Amino acid sequence: MTTDPLPKGSVIGIMGAGQLGRMLAQAAHELGFQTHIYAPNDDLAATPAGQVSDAVTQAAYEDEHSLLAFADRVDVITYEFENVPQSTAAFLSTVKPVRPGQKALEIAQDRWVEKSFIRDLDIDVAEFHDITTPESLHTAWQRFGGDGILKTRRFGYDGKGQWRITASNLLEPVFAELAGRPAILEQLVPFEKEVSVLAARNIDGDTAIFDCVENVHANHILKFSYAPADITDTLMQESRNIADKMLTALDYVGVLAIELFVCGNTLLVNEIAPRVHNSGHWTMDACAYGQFHQHILAVTGQSLANPERLQDAVMTNLIGEDILEARNRDMADNERFHDYGKKDIRDGRKMGHINALFPLNSRRGTGQTR
Ligand code: AMP
Repeated sequence: MTTDPLPKGSVIGIMGAGQLGRMLAQAAHELGFQTHIYAPNDDLAATPAGQVSDAVTQAAYEDEHSLLAFADRVDVITYEFENVPQSTAAFLSTVKPVRPGQKALEIAQDRWVEKSFIRDLDIDVAEFHDITTPESLHTAWQRFGGDGILKTRRFGYDGKGQWRITASNLLEPVFAELAGRPAILEQLVPFEKEVSVLAARNIDGDTAIFDCVENVHANHILKFSYAPADITDTLMQESRNIADKMLTALDYVGVLAIELFVCGNTLLVNEIAPRVHNSGHWTMDACAYGQFHQHILAVTGQSLANPERLQDAVMTNLIGEDILEARNRDMADNERFHDYGKKDIRDGRKMGHINALFPLNSRRGTGQTR
């Protein structure tokens, strides 16, 4: 399959119909490409990504007939979420390039595989044990001094499929909650900050790494990202080294998100996402080209853009009814509002975000991260 740059006007197939797909499609259009969304959602044309795409296919991820017809109509395939079934990605890749490739999906879909991969690269992760029986949970939990976080190996997000275990009488009920799902027990990390680094790699192996940002969650959902993170230059550089190492090891094409814990002078990787990421939304307005453009440049075989941060930024997620206030007020001069076009407002649903921009280097090192 060709690795030449795709000519302008080529069609980018995107699996998934949410806000990340929407912003990928918008960036693709700005760069002269067309888009085609594939997802099983009802009323696909009304979804955040469907609203702004040139074409949509509403079908199951396992429907080979529809997958083939879709692959036939696009030039490259990417995705906005990491739980695209591996069999789907494998099937599509026999027909058209799927970027990022299957290795990244395989690793990101299973916490045990992911953490083992990271540890084998000599990158720090919290200690973890595979949990298969109540006895293995008991032993691992004791080894961690009677504290730890049990996480399902697959399909966990925003704190779902996770249980902190601080007392022995919780072991049995929490194990029962797994209902047979494979899991790991992780050591509790006494972190000072949660940060993330977003990085792109193209087909030629060139990389572009955005500045590391600090993330603050509310109810297990990202609420704020502060760009840049107020961390030492050494840790900032370390975040780049980690990103570089992972991109190379995965022979990656596209944008990769890496979530990290700051513990003193160390960065530990919490998890990776083989896609654009909520904690990279600040790049849309604070860099010449943000993560969505960068991803489109990478998957279409182009040179990457300069990821330099041109301004400081605070990204605020608008969750549930937060969107109403934003929709009904004038933004300040330094604010950019992004509305995902979702009609139904629900608690915990990501509806939009605001990027507030500040002069370059006006926030970092001042302690004024909030
Ligand atoms: P995750 O789904 O793995 O990103 O976890 C969700 C959140 O739980 C993280 O953003 C952290 O705030 C917290 N968390 C996860 N793993 C650990 C850990 N090993 N130690 C301390 N906090 C954790």
